[in-house]
Formats: sequence, C-alpha cells, structure tokens
Amino acid sequence: MAHIPRKRLGQHFLREPAVIDAIVRAIAPRPGQAMVEIGPGLAALTQPLAERLGRLTVIELDRDLAARLRRHERLDVIESDVLKVDFTQLAQALQAIKIRVVGNLPYNISTPILFHLLEHVQVVEDQHFMLQKEVVDRMVAPCDSGAYGRLSVMLQWRYAMEDVLFVPPESFEPPPRVDSSVVRMVPLAAPAAVDAALLSQLVQAAFSQRRKLLRHPLAPWLAACGYAGAFDLQRRAQEVPVAEYVALAQALKPPPRASSRC
Ligand code: SAM
Repeated sequence: MAHIPRKRLGQHFLREPAVIDAIVRAIAPRPGQAMVEIGPGLAALTQPLAERLGRLTVIELDRDLAARLRRHERLDVIESDVLKVDFTQLAQALQAIKIRVVGNLPYNISTPILFHLLEHVQVVEDQHFMLQKEVVDRMVAPCDSGAYGRLSVMLQWRYAMEDVLFVPPESFEPPPRVDSSVVRMVPLAAPAAVDAALLSQLVQAAFSQRRKLLRHPLAPWLAACGYAGAFDLQRRAQEVPVAEYVALAQALKPPPRASSRC
C-alpha cells in the first residue's frame, strides 16, 4: 500500500536517483562499518547503504514505516524518537568504538538532533546529514558573516564541517518549500577542553541581541559570572571568532555549580 507522507514527521522522501547516488558516494560506506541512519523513511538511502555495508541500524519514529523496514533482512530497526536514543549505548550495543551517523533529517527537529548528537560526539566517527540549506549555511558560516551565530560557534568548536552537495526541492516527494544541502561533520581530533554547557550559555547570551555591541547583552552576564578579564566588548557577537568564545568560556572556570547559571 502506498505510504501517505506525514507532514508533522517532516516526511519528504528522496526520489531522484542521481541525488541518492551522489549522497551515497559522499558517505562512501565500506563493508562492515558500524553505521546508523536517522529517519530511513521509504529506504531511498537505506537500500544502497545497506547493500554496501552488509548491515545497517536505522532509527524511525513512524510506526508504519518501521514495520516495512523490518522486512529488510540487512536492517536492525529501532522504532523510536531519535532524540530519545542514547548513541553512546547504541555504539556499545553495536560493539563499535565509533559509529558513522547519516540521515535525511526531519527539518522541523534538525537543530535538536544536532545538539543531541553533540552530547555523544565521543562515539561518532563522522556524520552526513541532509538539512535545510539555510541551516547548513549557518553551521559552516565564517566569523563576521550574516549567517554566523550560535549554531556556527557550538558546532565549529567541535566539528570540521563541509557543505558537500546542493539538493533542489524537486529531488523529493513531496517537495519541501526550501533548498537542501548535505553536510559532512567530522569531530575534531583535539578539540579545546571547555564546559559545553557554559559555552552554550555564553554564546546564547552573546547572540541574544546580535545587532548591539556585546557590552549590552554580555557585560551583565559576565559580571554575574564574576568575570573581571579584558574581553573586548566593543564588538558585535558575530565579530568574535569561535576560538575567542572558547577561550572566554575557559576563563570562566571553575564553572558555576550545575544548578546556578551565570
Ligand atoms: N530517509 C528518507 C529519504 O531520504 O527519503 C526519509 C527522510 S524524511 C525527510 C525524514 C524521516 O525521519 C521520515 O522517515 C520520518 O518519519 C522520520 N522521523 C521524523 N521524526 C523523527 C524522529 N523524531 N525520530 C526518528 N525518525 C523521525
């Protein structure tokens, strides 16, 4: 029976063979690799990936789609909300030190998925995701560009990222109203050691009034942290490179107790 796409689950199914082929080539799956696909849907990517890998673990929330996927002999199906999946435990269950994660993500929850995976980055070898192009632009945006913001800082601190493929709306059924891109994310081998929660609070405060000089949103926040350093607040949030945000968060150590927020 034909599947009727569910809008609330962000269901836009890939249908363009050349695009599917280009994504699989960008992922470059090898036999035996431990890979997890988020949101396999009607298996457009799943099928060629599983053929190359031998086995593939998939996470699908839609009950009907999960039932169909269970018929594929090469798949291990986890019927769940991806935001509830503990990827560290999943890597252990797959007896893998690191897993590769891929997916044409449901766009309505793509940012929460990226932040959820950030918590499990230590077990991730790499990630390839199809996302709204505007989101990918923000992820890879250089400092002092219009798209540079919280997402850029929080991800560039931890991953090397690359926009690898532009995908137009007509590659999907039904077509989304936006352009899409595939992003490659590789965790940095030696990331700066910083309290991620504190960095996140800092960056959120800095970008809360992105048109104003940082002394407006950030000076009171830093004062609440007891910071008395010489960080230049006569700039806008988008003019501060990732490394400087990280250095500032490090200078705020020792971090406040878990219950208190600067
Ligand atoms: N991979 C397929 C493709 O490329 O044609 C489908 C991609 S579609 C954009 C997103 C998929 O994610 C759908 O299959 C949808 O049911 C699934 N999905 C939506 N929300 C989810 C969630 N919270 N956890 C797991 N899967 C989810």
